[in-house]
Amino acid sequence: MHTIPFANPRRAYSRNKDRILAVFDRVMSAGNLILRKELSQFEDDFAKFINVKYAVGVSSGYASIYMALRASGVSTGDAVIVPVHTHVSTCSAVINAGATPVLIDIDEDFNMNINLLEELINDRKDIKAIIPVHMNGLMCDMREIMRVAKNYELVVIEDACQAVGASIENRFAGTWSNAGCFSFYPFKILGCYGDGGCLITNDKDIESIVRLLRFNGEDRETGEYKFHGCSCTLDNLQAAFLSMKLFGLDKTLSRRREIAETYNIQLSGIGDMILPICTDVDFLHSYQNYVIRSQYRDQIQKYLLKKGIEIKVHWRLPYYKHTRLNLLSKTYPVMERISKEILSLPIYSELEDDEVAIIINSIKNFFG
Ligand SMILES: *Cc1c(COP(=O)(O)O)cnc(C)c1O
Repeated sequence: MHTIPFANPRRAYSRNKDRILAVFDRVMSAGNLILRKELSQFEDDFAKFINVKYAVGVSSGYASIYMALRASGVSTGDAVIVPVHTHVSTCSAVINAGATPVLIDIDEDFNMNINLLEELINDRKDIKAIIPVHMNGLMCDMREIMRVAKNYELVVIEDACQAVGASIENRFAGTWSNAGCFSFYPFKILGCYGDGGCLITNDKDIESIVRLLRFNGEDRETGEYKFHGCSCTLDNLQAAFLSMKLFGLDKTLSRRREIAETYNIQLSGIGDMILPICTDVDFLHSYQNYVIRSQYRDQIQKYLLKKGIEIKVHWRLPYYKHTRLNLLSKTYPVMERISKEILSLPIYSELEDDEVAIIINSIKNFFG
């Protein structure tokens, strides 16, 4: 058991036990399990929070990306631009939709390097879509990406799985493009107690196709199967927990930003560390992860572990380098370099100030 774990679901539960059990009891007593009012209530709540027309609750972040691609007409013969630094499921969604992923390197802010976009698009004729991934809670520059997409008439699907509550010019992640995809995996900023996700869109067609896809392609009024879909709805119970947690999301976000600000100030100029870069005042970071860079990251991780502090590397080996996935076509120099330096510090709303101080002091001690 770590003194300071990387995430602390047990503490989160003990602090909210009464509310969680009350929600559980209410839903179970009503016998509302699949596609019931708690789900549509959460969809309304989430759409309102994000300021978008439609939200469709689905079974995971992966499922939302996969169905966004299907509903946008991406299929066999199409190519989709995907960054090299993301959860593997962004890429798996493209493959499983029948399309070909075209990988793009990242920039120093961990997001896709948009200066490489046009060259990639001009290189081949089959690019149909771009999936910008807002890594760690910092958005890609959607103003520029949408400009390029418009020029080349491309579909854009935002992977906002790490960026609920992040924004550019007060416009939230997920609302800039054809569809936005969210994950409610337990350790995301807005997490449920199992797998969960949501697709948001202002496009009525995408919304109605995803509603069918998530329920095996079945039109629930007529019973007709319109196409091959999947069993991918968001559980009613998880939706009820999510409505409860959405209520506290602003507080969660401000606590995360507060911890990040403390790290930013206290760790600045220590050793060779590079702290997260967010210099544009129009960008609001949501700090899903607080990622530092250092050439000593493995030593830092070991040193902190000895002190009972758990820190993580997301991800030691980028997904495209897993040879069985058959993706390696080029090298991606920025990703290669950065993947050897990155280290994520604990950041979650239950983390206490004295724990943040212990983490900071331990890192300072490491650098002596
Ligand atoms: C977590 C995550 C996903 C996948 O979400 P699941 O709910 O686990 O399927 C996809 N993309 C990114 C960037 C993520 O962080």
